[in-house]
Amino acid sequence: MSMLQKFNGIKALAAKYSTTKLATKSLNRLKQLRNELCQDAKSSILTDTFGRHHTYLRISITERCNLRCTYCMPSSGVELTRNENILKTDEIIQLANLFVREGITKIRLTGGEPTVRKDIVDIIAQLKGLEGLETLAMTTNGITLTRQLPALQRAGLNLLNISLDTLKPDRFEKFTRRKGWNKVMASIDLAIQLGYNPVKINTVVMRNFNDDEITDFVELTKNKPIDVRFIEYMPFSGNEWNTNKMVPFIEMKKIIERKYHGFKKISDMPNDTSKAFHVPGYMGQVGFITSMSENFCNSCNRLRITADGNLKVCLFEGKGEVSLRDALRNNVSSQDLKIIIRNAVLKKKKQHAGDGKNNNLKAPGNRILNLTVLPSTMNHQSYQVKQCRKRLYTTLTHIDKEGKAAMVDVGSKSQNVRIAKARGYIYVGAIITQLIMENNIKKGDALTIAQLAGIMAAKKTWDLIPLCHPLTLNYVKVDLKLSVDSHRVEITSEVKCTEKTGVEMESLVAVSVAALTVYDMCKSAVPPDTMHIAGIELVSKVGGSRGDFFKE
Ligand code: SAM
Ligand code: SF4
Repeated sequence: MSMLQKFNGIKALAAKYSTTKLATKSLNRLKQLRNELCQDAKSSILTDTFGRHHTYLRISITERCNLRCTYCMPSSGVELTRNENILKTDEIIQLANLFVREGITKIRLTGGEPTVRKDIVDIIAQLKGLEGLETLAMTTNGITLTRQLPALQRAGLNLLNISLDTLKPDRFEKFTRRKGWNKVMASIDLAIQLGYNPVKINTVVMRNFNDDEITDFVELTKNKPIDVRFIEYMPFSGNEWNTNKMVPFIEMKKIIERKYHGFKKISDMPNDTSKAFHVPGYMGQVGFITSMSENFCNSCNRLRITADGNLKVCLFEGKGEVSLRDALRNNVSSQDLKIIIRNAVLKKKKQHAGDGKNNNLKAPGNRILNLTVLPSTMNHQSYQVKQCRKRLYTTLTHIDKEGKAAMVDVGSKSQNVRIAKARGYIYVGAIITQLIMENNIKKGDALTIAQLAGIMAAKKTWDLIPLCHPLTLNYVKVDLKLSVDSHRVEITSEVKCTEKTGVEMESLVAVSVAALTVYDMCKSAVPPDTMHIAGIELVSKVGGSRGDFFKE
């Protein structure tokens, strides 16, 4: 049952029994739920323009590592950021605290190798103290875990992933360029003894390296609470990515099914990136992380902070969107920090596009993988620039030869039917969503008033935007739709005229003012940082002299 459904249920109950003892109890619960809803509304800074709500934060606490896995880094290791530029313990806690207050419920520490950081126990103990954090996890290569795990568990570590790519000691050395297989195996045993259930084992599968061990890993799940997660090998810069090395999920599954006829799908946890399976009668289970063959971008709830403090909204993003470390060290207020985070989250793309090098990425059997494949000979950046250029006007029409502002002389243009459509969103949070649903905003019916405001504003565009021409409009349509799941109102507009110049500004003004009106109508009901307006854009325009435009 959603929070809102609970809230409504109790509200109805309270109304029904308003004179009884139950009413007091219900009203208390009502207050409690309203608080929880306030929390919900606050977390909208972690909701992106596709309605994905982020509740899972992965923090890399170091770039250093005691192994050199061939698929992860070169034998010489990675170029390390200077120590003073790595996040300090109190900075990690400060950031984690802010994210948890905004709705993060799960934090995973990773790296590099997180256990090489001397203050790892302290970090975990402090994170454990954050109210609202439900899961505190770590991904580790397990090399030093036999020494550290009891203390880490006491400090509050409650979920553990240990990476292991082979069950053969000599192969381990080839994979990791270091010794240590026995230590990792001992760590897995210790984790089981200490009651971690399941102990997750991360196994990167690579063709002709360890694909012959897939069923041996499945066998590990027979008598132990182990969740083996087969990971498709991913392209990272410097890991000698080669499409032939990647064994896609479907192929791994077939290999397993050949030996285990009953191997079957079981239900996944919400937002889980892994597809869960198991062999009937076996204690543990098997998962597949299919980042390459079947991305899980549409349900992605993860954000990442790099060891040097950059916020990455997608694993496939380069260096990260923004430096939270610099923001902290420049003493920005927590309010400004939230705006920085929110802006980064709003820029999260619908899905990742790989690293832009895998133009001909095909799985065996010529199945094209589910990546945005870029045109050959073009890296991602130049592709984006070209895409933009396609849409840019070649000149700035509102600037004269001296670079001064000038209105375009449209006298010689032909009078055509011109139509423009625009769209935008206002994210309103849970409380406003509920109030709008109930048509219960103090100032009246917010959506109808915003619709009228949008229509009126379109008609006044030439009064508001200095170089716009006065036009006679044939019609202005403005539509507002509340999405209950993503707590946002989608605003669309369509404007038509039979004139010498177009109506794109009118359509954009209609959306903008409608959004501002929703904001104005609702602002007194929630804290100031609850609502934000995003994604206002032109969707199409037809009838102009520069040709028609339709947003891809
Ligand atoms: N050092 C720790 C470890 O190895 O578990 C934590 C960091 S490591 C980068 C996190 C996980 O990413 C590991 O499970 C590792 O196997 C996986 N990984 C690293 N490079 C990969 C690649 N190219 N493709 C798929 N998974 C990879
Ligand atoms: Fe180190 Fe983990 Fe990378 Fe292996 S995968 S080199 S253990 S960071």
